[in-house]
Amino acid sequence: MTRAISAEWVLPVDGPPLRDARVVWNGGRIVEVAPGRVDEHHEEAVIVPGLVNAHSHLEYAVYAGFGDGEPFGSWLATHIRRKHALDFDGMLAVARRGAADSLASGITTTADYSFSGAAAVAAAEAGLRAIVYLEVFASDPREAELQFEQTRARIPPNVPGSSLLLGISPHAPYTCSVEVYRWCLSLGIPVGTHLAESANENEWLERGSGPLAANRALLVPPTGKRAVATLAPVLCPELLCAHCVELDAGEIALLAERDVPVAHCPRSNAVLGCGVAPLAALRAAGVRIGLGTDSPASAPSFDMFEELRATVYASRARERRPDALSAEEALRLATVDAARVLGLDREIGTLARGKRADLTVLSLAASPYHPVEDPAAAVVFGGSPDRVLETIVEGETRHRRGETEWHEAHNTASVARRTMLSARSR
Ligand SMILES: [Zn+2]
Repeated sequence: MTRAISAEWVLPVDGPPLRDARVVWNGGRIVEVAPGRVDEHHEEAVIVPGLVNAHSHLEYAVYAGFGDGEPFGSWLATHIRRKHALDFDGMLAVARRGAADSLASGITTTADYSFSGAAAVAAAEAGLRAIVYLEVFASDPREAELQFEQTRARIPPNVPGSSLLLGISPHAPYTCSVEVYRWCLSLGIPVGTHLAESANENEWLERGSGPLAANRALLVPPTGKRAVATLAPVLCPELLCAHCVELDAGEIALLAERDVPVAHCPRSNAVLGCGVAPLAALRAAGVRIGLGTDSPASAPSFDMFEELRATVYASRARERRPDALSAEEALRLATVDAARVLGLDREIGTLARGKRADLTVLSLAASPYHPVEDPAAAVVFGGSPDRVLETIVEGETRHRRGETEWHEAHNTASVARRTMLSARSR
């Protein structure tokens, strides 16, 4: 089936903005992006490539505020304790809300790190394109393999499909050994981890001290090295690394040299007091970087527009330069650059003939950025989930404002949150 929509602005991202232009697709692929209106026209609106989230945890969609203000180590302990109050159905209920919130925020693809496997089921049901990395926490590769097989077994065999890839996530260098990373990378599936998120991580790895020590039963022994040096033997283009806040110049150079893809999560890093990642230095070094919302456990939402603004604010503030990151560059971080980080840029990330028909229609009605001077600025500084009119994945409408209400997803997820809040401290 062929469908065509037009809007006052179309932002292909890999080319100049088009005024009064259309996007046409057939069978899930874009066949035309060109000037000219069609019958289904959105005045005071912009069509952008579907937003690509380089780091999420759909299973933490209702963890908002848990442990807020606590140091990283005790924050982590609160999350682990409450997470264990949920069974798989509870985690699935939360992940369904995560998928719903993502689509409502104009996100069409997410790179999700999954504790239980529920995220894979939820993304597939909702039609959210995803790479779901199943988490393992282990020193011994045999233990990691056992955890991976157990989680994989919870996901029905028909769930991975054309829009869902399963990967594996060795959680972090303080919870997994380098041997576990090697084993994960030998599987030939997508691999993602958390790296250099906090100073606490380096404290534990270098000296066995700091707030993480309170959770020592869950950790690998100190390596005597910083996080990046600990993972140096396995850093490669196939290892997606979320956060990368605690980096020195040599570590930035190493990430660039090894072509390590990085997911930048500025709101999460700020809320947890972890710091501001050196985005400008990473970009200058040529590191592949995409933007990630992380999850309401820290961020505190899957609102990619808030993340876009946060990345501009944080980058300009850190560099003390208003030109440290433009709106156009920020939008690339949440579309084509994130697609490159995930190795999916041949399929998604821009509006171009032959790519998958993943697109988001955003209203600019009554926006202070309308009439439009810079359409990328209108999206980045003026966008919000409230303004998302339609989210389309592979040519199919997955969210439409005023029609897709997600009541059940919200209600069942609230029940799961209540269960976690009433879980007794142990
Ligand atoms: Zn994460």
